[in-house]
Amino acid sequence: METTEKKTEKVKKEAKEAAVAADLPNISTSDWALVLVGPENKLTTEVNEENLVALSNGYEVDKRIADSYEKMSEAATKANHPLVIISAFRSVAYQQTVFDQEVNVIMSRDGLDEEAAIAETKKTVTEPGYSEHHTGLAVDVVDESWYNNYPKEVLEEGFGKQPGAQWLAENAPEFGFIVRYPKGKEAITKIDYEPWHLRYVGKESAKYITENDLTLEEYLKLF
Ligand SMILES: [Zn+2]
Repeated sequence: METTEKKTEKVKKEAKEAAVAADLPNISTSDWALVLVGPENKLTTEVNEENLVALSNGYEVDKRIADSYEKMSEAATKANHPLVIISAFRSVAYQQTVFDQEVNVIMSRDGLDEEAAIAETKKTVTEPGYSEHHTGLAVDVVDESWYNNYPKEVLEEGFGKQPGAQWLAENAPEFGFIVRYPKGKEAITKIDYEPWHLRYVGKESAKYITENDLTLEEYLKLF
């Protein structure tokens, strides 16, 4: 038999789910901006090079999101958090090069055979075909203040506490971007908290996902 407490929890949970499901944006889950690529969702088709465009700093993204990024970047500068891109589009071939290099380093450093070295590499380097950066819809971005003063590595969790990261988390949805790997959602995204990794999903979806404290995985399941 259910306890009263459990029942209350259940009712609360159902009410929350109903609230989330109400006023869902009118979108199609097959929209290009909602493609799911990650540790459990391999890229199916590589981005055509013709669909990429270089941002003003040289990093390439899907040309359909370039304007949105530039607008967000302008707004960030106005808010005194000028942005610095660390990474954007990465091809499968590029990721393969990075991956293979690490395999070789581990093989010669730790005396492992190739199979063991590959298993070890998978722990720290994204396997080619499984990175959201392949889509051209993801950017790794920090602000200048952090970029110039970061303690150890530019892409580390500490960035999340910076005013620049807080500005991004609050304002990115306005431009169609979400913080793709939020804190506390690691079990769903299968990726550690990354305050710098923004993903374009479109304005409507970005606002909905952020306001309802969802991940892209959870959002897509609502349709
Ligand atoms: Zn990233």
